[in-house]
Amino acid sequence: MTDLDLPGITAGRRTRAARPPQQWADLDPAARVAAVTEAALPRFRADQISRRYYGHDEADPLAWSDLPAALRPQVAERWFPQLLTEVTTQACDAGDTVKAAWRLTGGAVVESVVMAYPERVTACVSSQAGCGIGCPFCATGQQGLTRNLSTAEIVEQVRRARVLVASGAFPGSPDHLTNIVFMGMGEPLANYRALVAALHRILDPVPAGFDMSARNITVSTVGLVPRMHDLAGEGMPVTLALSLHAPDDDLRDTLVPVNHRWPVADVLAAADSYAERTGRRYSIEYALIRDVNDQRWRADALGRLLAGRLAHVNLIPLNPTPGSRWTAATPRAQDEFVSGVREQGVTVTVRDTRGREIDGACGQLAAVVEA
Ligand code: SAH
Ligand code: SF4
Repeated sequence: MTDLDLPGITAGRRTRAARPPQQWADLDPAARVAAVTEAALPRFRADQISRRYYGHDEADPLAWSDLPAALRPQVAERWFPQLLTEVTTQACDAGDTVKAAWRLTGGAVVESVVMAYPERVTACVSSQAGCGIGCPFCATGQQGLTRNLSTAEIVEQVRRARVLVASGAFPGSPDHLTNIVFMGMGEPLANYRALVAALHRILDPVPAGFDMSARNITVSTVGLVPRMHDLAGEGMPVTLALSLHAPDDDLRDTLVPVNHRWPVADVLAAADSYAERTGRRYSIEYALIRDVNDQRWRADALGRLLAGRLAHVNLIPLNPTPGSRWTAATPRAQDEFVSGVREQGVTVTVRDTRGREIDGACGQLAAVVEA
């Protein structure tokens, strides 16, 4: 796999941003066996440690009574450095939305959000510190890219969310984490290797991974076409969300700058191919911005564009970001937009705006935490 030679997207790998130490979740099953063998431990320790981590969501070997006491500090030091240091945790929506800010190695701060509903509990996780794509309506996009997250930094966000849910934090909801969306900070497909490895840890059965269901995992992308094709070939039928935001290239060029490279027709063709190869319907994300992309004629155009495709439209009322002149469409324009798309036979939902008051909603994740 080659890097995408887009300025900004891969820049994080070239900067001197501090890299995190290796952690157990960075290792695939073969690497775990190799690691314990290299440490002069018997092979069975690899599964034993993995069962603690993936089967019980535990990451403190000092408390593992099935490891000899003398071995625990060695395992802790070697494979369980603390990757995420909690900076703040805030709740809203009567406790059903919880946003955590985590400090990473090197000082960058990323966020993840857990949202509880009667039938599911969803974690929204970050894949990069900042983002190099630069969509003008997105708070993360205004920061630029600091660096890619490591596999274990992504997996640790998931584990922390699992621990929170299992602690009984959400009484009216399932008692375990059911869904994950890669809709936090960053463009997941610009951190492809770490994303795919993290998906393996999330999906693989215990002890290799958390054994979550692929249909409940969503990867959201602006449409990095070569990586969409790669993802379709990974044999992990996760749900794809394509952030379109405009049916026409003129406007999408301004809202999603990589549209210059992969225009609307190309990203839709790649999404269709993803749907064909995985059998999964994809969703089209469309942030409705007043007087920018919320016109009825654009709804009609979007409906015509998607009619007959295996796609579903998810409208996101624009969440305000600091310093932006843009705001959400009026309720009337939103209703009109929904009708326009539906009239073409395309299904539409309007996303709830969970987490707005704690800046935990889409596009508001900018980690404005004092250093
Ligand atoms: N980089 C990926 C995933 C993270 S953003 C992507 O763009 O798809 C997750 C979703 O939030 C995307 O659909 C994005 O377009 C949307 N989003 C960004 N800023 C927003 C804002 N201010 N209001 C509403 N949605 C926003
Ligand atoms: Fe990056 Fe997604 Fe924000 Fe665009 S919307 S700047 S791709 S995080």
